[in-house]
Amino acid sequence: MSARKACTGCHRPLPIEAFPSAGRRGKEPTCAMCTNDARRLRTPLPALKPDPELIRLSNVTNLWFGPVRREPMRSIA
Ligand SMILES: [Zn+2]
Repeated sequence: MSARKACTGCHRPLPIEAFPSAGRRGKEPTCAMCTNDARRLRTPLPALKPDPELIRLSNVTNLWFGPVRREPMRSIA
C-alpha cells in the first residue's frame, strides 16, 4: 500500500506518484491533472490565421437563405 496525499486542487486522496515533482520542494501540492489545468489556463490561445476556405464556408452558411431581411422569416411562407 503506497502512501496517499490529498491534492489541494481537487481534494482527491491520490498516491504520491500522481503528483509531479517540483525540484527542491519535493512534490507539487496539486496532482498532475490539476497542475496541467492551471498551466493551460495561464497559456493564452494563439491567434487564428484567417482561412479562405473557412471564410467562404461561413459566407455560404450565412447567405444560405438569402440576405437578412427586416421582416420575419414567416412572411416568406
Ligand atoms: Zn488534483
